[in-house]
Amino acid sequence: MDVMKDQINEMQLRQLVDMIRYSAGSLQSFLDYTLKQAILLTGSQMGYICCCNEEQNRFALSSGLEKSANDQQMDTYQQAFLKAHARVLDEVKLSRKPFVSNQFERRKTETKPDHVVIDNYMTVPVIRDDEIMGVIGLANGQGGFEESDILHVSLLMEAVFNVVIVKQAKEELELLSNRFKLANRVAMIGVFDWDMKSDSLFLDEQMVELYGLEMKAGRVAHSIWEKIIHPDDLNQVQDLIRQAIESKSECTAEFRTINNSRRIRLLATVDTDESGQPIRMIGANWDITKEHEDYNKLLETNRRLEDEVIERTYIEDALRVSEEKFKAIVDTSPDGIAITDMDGIVNFVTDRTVEMWGYDSKEELLGRNAMEFIHESYLSKAIYFIGEMINGNLTGAAEYLMVKKDGTLFYIEANANILKDKDGNPTGILYIERDVTERRRLEDEMKEMAQKDQLTGLFNRRKIDEVLLENEPVQTRNRLLSVIMLDIDYFKKVNDEHGHLVGDEVLVSVGQLLTDGIRQTDILGRWGGEEFIIICPDTDLSGARQLAEKLRIKISNHIFNEVGQKTCSFGVAQLKADETVDDVLSRSDSALYLAKEMGRNRVVTEEAFYTP
Ligand code: GH3
Ligand code: MG
Ligand code: MG
Repeated sequence: MDVMKDQINEMQLRQLVDMIRYSAGSLQSFLDYTLKQAILLTGSQMGYICCCNEEQNRFALSSGLEKSANDQQMDTYQQAFLKAHARVLDEVKLSRKPFVSNQFERRKTETKPDHVVIDNYMTVPVIRDDEIMGVIGLANGQGGFEESDILHVSLLMEAVFNVVIVKQAKEELELLSNRFKLANRVAMIGVFDWDMKSDSLFLDEQMVELYGLEMKAGRVAHSIWEKIIHPDDLNQVQDLIRQAIESKSECTAEFRTINNSRRIRLLATVDTDESGQPIRMIGANWDITKEHEDYNKLLETNRRLEDEVIERTYIEDALRVSEEKFKAIVDTSPDGIAITDMDGIVNFVTDRTVEMWGYDSKEELLGRNAMEFIHESYLSKAIYFIGEMINGNLTGAAEYLMVKKDGTLFYIEANANILKDKDGNPTGILYIERDVTERRRLEDEMKEMAQKDQLTGLFNRRKIDEVLLENEPVQTRNRLLSVIMLDIDYFKKVNDEHGHLVGDEVLVSVGQLLTDGIRQTDILGRWGGEEFIIICPDTDLSGARQLAEKLRIKISNHIFNEVGQKTCSFGVAQLKADETVDDVLSRSDSALYLAKEMGRNRVVTEEAFYTP
């Protein structure tokens, strides 16, 4: 019986050794299988294997088995068995040697109905370097456990744990390596490993992908760098790597891939042999294209912002300068400046405008319609002018008559311009106004002076000529018009006897006498030295003759200073429908000449020539 058992056991043991040798499964399945073999080997009913971690002072169950239990019950059995064994495990921990009990001391009352009744058990620890690596527990062996069972199980466990330890390390390494690979893949980190002796380079999958190489992960010639780094960056990277090798330190570099599609950051470390000679370089490469683009974008945005700030500052400065200039112009300008909106409502005025318009404050002008300040006689002109300006038909200056707060009238010359926003839409009208009241007065004065005789203040010959010409052309004339010409008699004597100044006084007095004697509609002028002319509209020859006679008497009765009495001779003619003004002048002049001939101090009309 024993021999049979031993033979079977030996066979099984060999199977197990084979299994260990060729084992390729997981640690868990290996332990499960081992436990099954151990149960078979010892003819037990149930068992467990614990992989221990003594440092943490706990037993972790790796495998548990009960022959009769089904899968659902397994966990419960394992837990219950382990719990029941806790004391035993403690003993093993303390004694550090296999332990067999064929008369298990237990209180039957403690066993619950679904619990297994333990009759005998054996426990074998696996110890390495005085450390318990694992424990196998077996129970209810047929006919109890023997020393040979302990030996077999011990051998088995020794062999198994050699594998377990290697497997555990391998699994852990694999786990780590998988994690590392996963992390690399996620972060797209490529790893290279350069063996300097063979000058060959190992590239992992990510490296291959990162550089778009048409190869699988593996070893390649070191010179591959020249085919993957952009030529413009290659020297710099090689320099950095050379420096790192020389100083046996780390190096970092940034470069573009050869087709410029990616930007890579590289971190490499140098390994040395025992003599300190660099033998190996390991490096990580990762894609920073996006990061680089983002950074560049950030830089670009930053630069643009800076430019904008500079530009804005420049514009603000320019604006300030221009505002200051504008303010200076506004403050010192003799012209008033006013701005209205497109409806004519005043929204800006300068102090000069307020002063010019005769008001006390800007507030009195703001918000009012500019038309309120224009004299009603100029309103239609203003409305027309603004309308034409808005339509782009009119520019330049225009004069307006304005009304001050106290009702005083004044003239302005206004230059207007449409203000536009940046889109070219009109926003308002700018007026630059100058008070031209005084200018207009001077102009009027000059105009008057130009048509008046300086000495007598009567119209001069030029003005008289103008008036006469207004009565041409002949065809349009349907009014009566007569002309009186008069000349002071013996005027030379006045100058000779009383001096030129007295003569002047006489001329002024005659002018006054004539002015007083004529009607409002008659036009009086000095025709030459001591000759005068009177144009009488709506007057026929006899009317003019009567007026001349009245004037002749008036003058002859006048006593001139120092000079006494003076007389005048008169020539009168009436403008005919078919003649020019020269004709009537010539006839009145002839009549005057005749009056002189006839003895002076008399009125002669053109009728004198119509001798029957
Ligand atoms: P008659 O009766 O024929 O007109 O004689 P008269 O002396 O008036 O005629 P005459 O034409 O010979 O003389 C005109 C004089 O009037 C000559 C000139 O010295 C003088 N006279 C012309 N203009 C002025 C003036 O502005 N002031 C003064 N004081 N004398 C003037
Ligand atoms: Mg004369
Ligand atoms: Mg005379």
